[in-house]
Amino acid sequence: MSKDRTDLVGLLRAEAEALMEEMGQPAYRGRQVFQWVQARRAVDVDAMTSLSRNLRALLASRAMVGRPEVVRAQRALDATRKYLFKLVDGEEIESVLIPDEGRLTACISTQVGCPLACRFCLTGLMGLRRNLAAGEVVGQVLALQDRLEAGERISNLVLMGMGEPLLNFPQVERALRILSDEYGAHFSPRRITLSTAGHVPGIQKLAASDLGVNLAVSLSATTDAVRDRIMPINRRWPIAELLKACRAYPLPTRRRLTFEYVMLDEVNDSGENAKRLVGLLRGIRCKINLIPFNATPDLPDRGSPRERVEAFQRILHDAGLTATIRESRGREISAACGMLKTELLKTDRDRDRDSKTDSDMR
Ligand code: SAH
Repeated sequence: MSKDRTDLVGLLRAEAEALMEEMGQPAYRGRQVFQWVQARRAVDVDAMTSLSRNLRALLASRAMVGRPEVVRAQRALDATRKYLFKLVDGEEIESVLIPDEGRLTACISTQVGCPLACRFCLTGLMGLRRNLAAGEVVGQVLALQDRLEAGERISNLVLMGMGEPLLNFPQVERALRILSDEYGAHFSPRRITLSTAGHVPGIQKLAASDLGVNLAVSLSATTDAVRDRIMPINRRWPIAELLKACRAYPLPTRRRLTFEYVMLDEVNDSGENAKRLVGLLRGIRCKINLIPFNATPDLPDRGSPRERVEAFQRILHDAGLTATIRESRGREISAACGMLKTELLKTDRDRDRDSKTDSDMR
């Protein structure tokens, strides 16, 4: 795919219209192109058969339909599916489809890797390789839709895959506008949740925008001392500042913020922590999502025993807070929270190890 051609998947409807007008066409042609790409999921310009052959040739000389290539698909026993995508420059990302009681949630990535290095997250071990373009964020959803089984429909989108969405705000914002456009996939913003590790300026930007998506904040600690250690972003925006931004986040009636809390054995899971959390969240319309830690040999922590997770939940309940325990989905295919990373990491490390062995033997 040539670099100088515009990726139609990353264009807002108004931009598709402008592109067609530049080519001497009426604006409605641009809307048709947008519909072809986003609603009918055309995989190339040639499939847009409501455009004349000549117009398709002209369009194809300036634009293309960029779709991430699926290089691996895995399915867990609980029907969670994970897809590994290869992007045009060879970088790889993962997305997950999670069926649950009549819902089908697509969990999509916003960056290749992530710079935030949360201690409990595998993606963090990769470091940031690059931001995704809007077309690559939207492209994941289109590609997942292509692979649905008969009768399935993606009902919810969560930006909880690889990366910190608020560190890629312009492209994420653009992707969300495309995905919620009535002529495209038409996801209601109420069915979209953006999850952040606590990037305060990003939360403020999101608050000031009219995107209207749900906000989830990964809190996972109740003191700065602990949060500094497990989520380095806290050193820049400590708990008080983060919660101040959360308090200022405009919520439509009947909407609530979500606070995610990864339960780490003897790190953040005591009754004291639960009580402190109650104090911290006082006055914020919210629910709490307790996430059992998905342990792997590459990460230092252990998960909290189930009874401690439940005791923690009980304290929150008794204080009048809504707290749910997120059931781990797709763990055996490493599709669960915090387990998304592409093999690049492993290969790099294996290569390191191999080369060390080589030199040791010399
Ligand atoms: N950067 C964003 C979105 C990606 S992480 C954020 O931090 O919110 C999505 C969720 O997975 C976050 O709530 C995060 O705390 C959680 N998570 C990360 N690693 C995990 C692990 N190993 N086990 C369980 N949850 C994890």
